Amino acid sequence: MSKKMSYGSDYKYIPATTIRSGKITQVLPDLYCYANKVVNVVFIGDARKKSFVLVDAGMPKSAKKIVKAVEKTYGKGARPKAILLTHGHFDHVGSIIELINYWKVPVYSHAFELPFLTGEFDYPSPDPFVRGGLIAKISYKFPKRAVNLADHIERLPADGSVPYLEDFRWIHTPGHTPGHVSFFREKDRTLIAGDAFITVKQDSLIKTITQKLELNGPPKYFTTNWRAACESVRKLKELHPAVAITGHGRPVSGENLTINLRNLADNFEQKAIPPKGKYV
Ligand SMILES: [Zn+2]
Ligand SMILES: [Zn+2]
Repeated sequence: MSKKMSYGSDYKYIPATTIRSGKITQVLPDLYCYANKVVNVVFIGDARKKSFVLVDAGMPKSAKKIVKAVEKTYGKGARPKAILLTHGHFDHVGSIIELINYWKVPVYSHAFELPFLTGEFDYPSPDPFVRGGLIAKISYKFPKRAVNLADHIERLPADGSVPYLEDFRWIHTPGHTPGHVSFFREKDRTLIAGDAFITVKQDSLIKTITQKLELNGPPKYFTTNWRAACESVRKLKELHPAVAITGHGRPVSGENLTINLRNLADNFEQKAIPPKGKYV
């Protein structure tokens, strides 16, 4: 029998949203970005073939909305082959237990993220001392205790392949968390970046709500290893992605992505690392 799953003891509904919330954007013929409040859930797979996976699992108490968005895209009763996690922060695993129970699907993460997904380690406290805005200031209220997915979580294959996605490989992009990964498809240079970099200034409440397009490093209040975060952004820049969906903010492509990602990688210290903060 399967072991019991549970959310962390500080798990709760977070009353934060954006003007994009609820929107499903088709980015490529087989790539969709579903905005679930302040976070993105990515659907990868052609809607005609009905074979697809999810990247990340949304905000707390959003399972019904996520299922609805999936069925709107892939048809009634549609079920993903798997859920891939970029990392285990509460806004990326907020509805994972309900989704596992509903769909009975396997979930994958990097081996280094497993302790935060099996109730073993909690994430360090969000850093409210980073300057940036209201979200950073209230971030100490965000859940940080580990979800426990028990035996429902598996590690991604060591050879870099991605289950159910032949053309993709996963890339270790630590810094924001130890086992953070991004997903990349060489043939059309598609990047799913998680929170390695994001396209909104997530520390700012007003920019989060309006979703003003602005390439930024990982959310400041949650990032603990800035050196690794910087190397990860440089690694992603070297892939020359043509289109990217990040954990927060609008999908981005073309010059908007190329120029801004280069700029972020080249000026990471000034652009991304907060001048003050307990993890700096
Ligand atoms: Zn995160
Ligand atoms: Zn996030």
